[in-house]
Amino acid sequence: MHMTTINRNYLKLPGSYLFSEIARRVSVYADANPDKKLIRLGIGDVTRPLVPAVTAAMHAAVDEMATAEGFHGYGPEQGYDFLREAIAAHDYHARGVEIDPSEIFVSDGAKSDCGNIGDIFGTDNVVAVCDPVYPVYVDTNAMAGRAGDFSEETGKWNRLVYMPCVAENGFAPAIPEEKADLVYLCFPNNPTGAVATRAQLQAWVDWANANGSVILFDSAYEAFISDPEIPHTIFEIPGAKTCAIEFRSFSKTAGFTGTRCAYTVVPKALERDGASLNALWNRRQCTKFNGVPYVVQRGAAAIYTPEGHAQVMENIAFYKRNAKVIFDGLKAAGLTVSGGENSPYVWAKTPDGMGSWEFFDKLLHQANVVTTPGAGFGPSGEGYIRLTAFGGADATVEAVERICKVL
Ligand code: PLP
Repeated sequence: MHMTTINRNYLKLPGSYLFSEIARRVSVYADANPDKKLIRLGIGDVTRPLVPAVTAAMHAAVDEMATAEGFHGYGPEQGYDFLREAIAAHDYHARGVEIDPSEIFVSDGAKSDCGNIGDIFGTDNVVAVCDPVYPVYVDTNAMAGRAGDFSEETGKWNRLVYMPCVAENGFAPAIPEEKADLVYLCFPNNPTGAVATRAQLQAWVDWANANGSVILFDSAYEAFISDPEIPHTIFEIPGAKTCAIEFRSFSKTAGFTGTRCAYTVVPKALERDGASLNALWNRRQCTKFNGVPYVVQRGAAAIYTPEGHAQVMENIAFYKRNAKVIFDGLKAAGLTVSGGENSPYVWAKTPDGMGSWEFFDKLLHQANVVTTPGAGFGPSGEGYIRLTAFGGADATVEAVERICKVL
């Protein structure tokens, strides 16, 4: 009998996804303690509504869609020119970076793009990831067969290169000594909240150009950078256009987590194996993707208007105040904390050598605050928890007070 086979790489993926395990523990506790009011500083979803400039643009676009002249069917797979041009002008030209709209690919999410980018690279490439890491980079490479086999004992895949980001190196990964063809870098970092300096990024770019490697640079949290010395895009670094692809998202910048819009920059100067990666990504997108809805792209473009920009930056400032409340509060309570300054994430060391999950459970049961155990992001995350600034202002203050009480 003929039997359909599957992609067996999927069977190698370890069972429980971090956030499902958190959800499971939270619901077990909540069911047993229905009177307790939980505050969630765990999952990185935003809570502030879309800003008025965005919703006004979307309303207008919906009205256009209801007319024969203004109706839009399939749009360009790469995104509408109005959005690609606005991105190029405001996110790049305004920072002195020459990126052409044809190098910008609008998409439905940085998550999809970070995962899908693997389509244009050989499965024989060696992939390097930070440890701890945003799990999407690891799991999508495992699905493609690039990660090898997973060991429950070490918590690692045997074909991935892990770059520890620990207190000793200031949560900045060292350039690997071993071969690495594709390197995922994420700054401001999820989960540690760390940022990379210009000098650090220059070292990565020089290394990638010298070795023929490609940097996959995720700057989904770029909007949270307030330190004027910290680069907002990898393309501020000389030489980056011949070695880097950048992922950006409207999710955290403008509250688009449920609206879905992002973009990926693949420079025309980036070639490997005799091929233009811009051309390959264009081919991939045209084949597998039919574009982001017109209404959504109109909403995204509205954040580049003066009023839209001011409104989204107010929301970012709101979250950054929460981050400061968390950072300052936990620090005053004696915890070792980092991140939070150019990032919505605070990375806190567990007290008394407690394990991540143990401290997670303690905070859930005693403070009724949901956090994220660092160990869920990789072996080097053990002994840490991540707290997010995406909650309400009062809830964040209360959560920090409750945590301090149980410490
Ligand atoms: N990249 C990082 C580092 C993230 O933390 C997230 C979301 O949490 C994403 C990408 C996903 O972005 P999007 O909503 O655009 O898919």
